[in-house]
Amino acid sequence: MTSLISERIAHIRASLPPSVRLIAVSKKVSTELIREAYNAGIRDFGESRIQEATIKQAELQDLPDITWHFIGHLQSNKAKKALELFDWIHSVDNFKIAQRLNTLAEELEVNPPVCLQVKILPDPHKSGWMVSELLADLPTLDQCKNLRIQGLMTIPPLGLQDAEIVNVFHRTQKLAQEINDKNLSSIKIEHLSMGMSGDYQLAVSAGATMVRLGTILFGDRV
Ligand SMILES: *Cc1c(COP(=O)(O)O)cnc(C)c1O
Repeated sequence: MTSLISERIAHIRASLPPSVRLIAVSKKVSTELIREAYNAGIRDFGESRIQEATIKQAELQDLPDITWHFIGHLQSNKAKKALELFDWIHSVDNFKIAQRLNTLAEELEVNPPVCLQVKILPDPHKSGWMVSELLADLPTLDQCKNLRIQGLMTIPPLGLQDAEIVNVFHRTQKLAQEINDKNLSSIKIEHLSMGMSGDYQLAVSAGATMVRLGTILFGDRV
């Protein structure tokens, strides 16, 4: 039986280069629909709230080969739980939380892959580093040896024209190159987590390696 979700997934998967990782953003989506997506082949799921993820992951324990991606703003008091529940953290958005995660990762004996969230343009609604701030913090971030800092994540501000959105994505790609050119000892950017339902094609054209898609797979969130 094919479902609406499996048709959408097949359609989007076919439109993406095979190397781009499709992360199904399942925040506010029921575990029934997550199972449908799983049955259609999705193994990467993104959640943005720790409490919600705790409940859903418990209900989905019979699906052990899911890779869970945390994509929301992380509060310090939830950092330990985030490391316990999630394989990837895309939304490391300031130096303090990076340090906290690094300390906790050592205690928990994990080495999670993470993305640093950057704001290419100022955006009061989003957290993350401005580019100049990130460049300044890199040497100390490079000391966070328990984190595998492998990616940059970005979300363009709302209301931009396509050309401006593409520009944000291209600048993120350039920033990754600039960081890699520094040859830091532990930071190597190999992933660009960028692109949501409304702009993922633009993101892919600018080098996204991971797209985070919610609405276009699951429909509008209630
Ligand atoms: C909700 C969310 C998404 C998915 O957004 P859609 O527009 O529904 O595809 C992607 N990334 C982050 C960080 C989100 O919070």
